[in-house]
Amino acid sequence: MQKGNISVQAENIFPIIKQFLYSDQEIFLRELVSNAVDATTKLKTLSNSGKVKGELGDTTIEIIVDKEAKTLTIKDKGIGMSEEEVMKYLNQVAFSSAQDFLEKYKNESGIIGHFGLGFYSAFMVADKVDVVTKSFVEGTQAVTWSCTGDPEYTLDTNDKTERGTEVILHISEDSVEYLEDSKIEGLLTKYCKFLPVSIKFGTKQDYSKDVEPKEGEEAVEQEEVFVDNIINSVAPLWKKLPADLTDEDYKSFYNELYPFSAPPLFWIHLNIDYPFSLTGVLYFPKVSNTLEVQKNKIQLYSNQVYVTDDVKEIVPEFLTLLHGVIDSPDIPLNVSRSYLQSDKNVKKITGYITKKVADKLGELFKEDRKSYEEKWDDIGIFVKYGLISDEKFYDRALPITLMKNVDGEHFTIEDYKAKIKDTQTDKHNKVVCLYTNAPDEHDSFIQSAKNRGYDVLDLGTVLDNHFMQSLESKGQELTFIRVDSDTVDNLVQKDEVIASVLSEKEEESVKTVFKAVVGEKGGNVETKALSPDDQPIIITKPEFMRRMKEMQAMQGMGGMANFPDTYNVVVNTNHPLVADKILNGKEAEQKDLAKYLYDLALLNQNMLKGADLTSFINKSLTFIK
Ligand code: ADP
Repeated sequence: MQKGNISVQAENIFPIIKQFLYSDQEIFLRELVSNAVDATTKLKTLSNSGKVKGELGDTTIEIIVDKEAKTLTIKDKGIGMSEEEVMKYLNQVAFSSAQDFLEKYKNESGIIGHFGLGFYSAFMVADKVDVVTKSFVEGTQAVTWSCTGDPEYTLDTNDKTERGTEVILHISEDSVEYLEDSKIEGLLTKYCKFLPVSIKFGTKQDYSKDVEPKEGEEAVEQEEVFVDNIINSVAPLWKKLPADLTDEDYKSFYNELYPFSAPPLFWIHLNIDYPFSLTGVLYFPKVSNTLEVQKNKIQLYSNQVYVTDDVKEIVPEFLTLLHGVIDSPDIPLNVSRSYLQSDKNVKKITGYITKKVADKLGELFKEDRKSYEEKWDDIGIFVKYGLISDEKFYDRALPITLMKNVDGEHFTIEDYKAKIKDTQTDKHNKVVCLYTNAPDEHDSFIQSAKNRGYDVLDLGTVLDNHFMQSLESKGQELTFIRVDSDTVDNLVQKDEVIASVLSEKEEESVKTVFKAVVGEKGGNVETKALSPDDQPIIITKPEFMRRMKEMQAMQGMGGMANFPDTYNVVVNTNHPLVADKILNGKEAEQKDLAKYLYDLALLNQNMLKGADLTSFINKSLTFIK
């Protein structure tokens, strides 16, 4: 047996390894299994090129927990190592790369992926590590390398006859959780689910051959059958050719990634090898009009090894709403965030994904407009989010952005402009889009607008304020005005004047009655000559103030968001109830009726609440009696 010092440099890095990124301690298993996979893939490559003779046999990697001996073993049947290779790879290569890694990232937090610590990450959880290995080269002596977590190691021969490597971790007292089957199975499922070599963890009961009892017969005791518990699927869907896959394949893979989710709307299979290499599948989840959709559900892999589900820097912000898998060995995995943001490859990848998504949407739009419209409530969230937040996407997405009106018809922005241009262009030559964000609440306003021959859009998602703002500010020559922001004659400003049946003096006296009823704290009272068919009192909420307030509230800002609503109480001087009853009534009657009409208008805007609402109902009941 020989003894030696791993490194001539005196600094002992083991204490640092032990502490290293304590929260990410669990990645040791990924590192060791990845090494086992590498050793196996190398062997297969050698075999394919004829450099290894004979059959390779079963190459399954095994993970074995021995609770009594307190060991966790990763066992492969890969290329193995000779004594010289152990000296070279474990003592020098692995050691110095671990040292480099720690040196570089000791003081960094938030390192993506944390690849690079490699073999020595074993010492995060083990007091002692044995490597029992035999090279595939015939006639090589098998050796055992052993190290107790200081720079000293021992190297001895052994009589292992099977090709490959066993890494035996003697789990330390404070890491005994890694001796629990459920813990290990959980980690393997997280990190190794799609590795390209079969990974076995114990056995599991096989129910597939159980026979269902025939009708009327009693269930017979079934013989228990155990089969290998294989953790991974070695050829995950994203590595296959789209031509070989059916819709069902994509859907069932989605289900595998996100059990219990509604089926995805559609998906994009990514596959590129120049100027960078990237494969993956991105799914559009069904989100139905809310932003409840969970972000950061995209998993990042590097050569089928799970890295992280934090892909913020790689995928443009608005696409983090998508689900699925991205696999790229070209994304630098052991660098800090700030570095990643300026990395050329990452920038190209971001651009590529954005383009792919835009292309796919364009294709759906062109090929099946009907189904695109049907899915618009869901798709719209991505498209609008993209329009708002991504300059490049804006231009691509504008032609395929739809707006839906209250009758459920969909239009592109261009088509919509053409449709309403004649009726809804204001005196400043801007096309005025009328909209509601709550069709049920704005019904009377919508009806008035429609009676006028106007069209009303349904823009009620949380993103729509920002969406409208984007279109308004980016030279679309459009303005958006909510149906209740002004009286119908003035929604599309055209300077039309309807004559009032009241004289100026009469108008003043009507106004005084209402001012007294509305009071100081209520809205701003104004008289206006509208059509006698319009309602006697209309409460309007000016667009600009209201929208500012909503935007601020959405961004969680105080300030304006806390101000009470500003609104106007518009008295229609041409309505008979106003022009006749209020004007000519006795003082008490005048007041009563004015109050009643005001309450009705408040009710129509969903603003009549509490005691005011109760007394309004009581008053209505007395009227009926
Ligand atoms: P990396 O895998 O990034 O090269 P590691 O520190 O994990 O770094 O491993 C260092 C080297 O040790 C590997 O490159 C490989 O040559 C060798 N090695 C590690 N594990 C095994 C194994 N299971 N079988 C064969 N060789 C291995």
